[in-house]
Amino acid sequence: MKNYQNYDIPQDLIFKTRDILDMEGLQCSLALNPADFADISRPPAKIKNARLKLRFSAMPKEILAQGEISGKISVQCSRCLKMFDSNFSEDFTRLFPTKEEIIDIMYMVKETLALLENIQNICSSGCKGLCGICGCDRNKVQCSCRPPAANSFASLKDKFEK
Ligand SMILES: [Zn+2]
Ligand SMILES: [Zn+2]
Repeated sequence: MKNYQNYDIPQDLIFKTRDILDMEGLQCSLALNPADFADISRPPAKIKNARLKLRFSAMPKEILAQGEISGKISVQCSRCLKMFDSNFSEDFTRLFPTKEEIIDIMYMVKETLALLENIQNICSSGCKGLCGICGCDRNKVQCSCRPPAANSFASLKDKFEK
């Protein structure tokens, strides 16, 4: 890998295969624009910032692209519905044949971010969630609602058996 100090990373992350071969590979790290990925995460989840570490290794017939995307995503707690920030880090690896003119890393980044499924979706392990009866946030309010009587099913069963 050499001669890439003066190389301008394409904003759209679509690299020319020729450039990578001329440089005999490339290693770079760049900030991604969250606006480019606004439509990827399911609302209300939203990517707040992301960084891509990218490494191209040139081989005789292929270019190996290895990427690591890390950043912060704002997600909704599945228990209390509050939005909170969660960190993520995902890798991708792909071989691109050198006979193709371009290396579309934007596609790889989008595909990787679209599969961000196993991010934490509970704001904290101790989150008490919302009360199923009055809807209050039980992390903040101690309501006096009682869960439905445990024997209601038994009494219903009773009725049917009569
Ligand atoms: Zn929560
Ligand atoms: Zn309640």
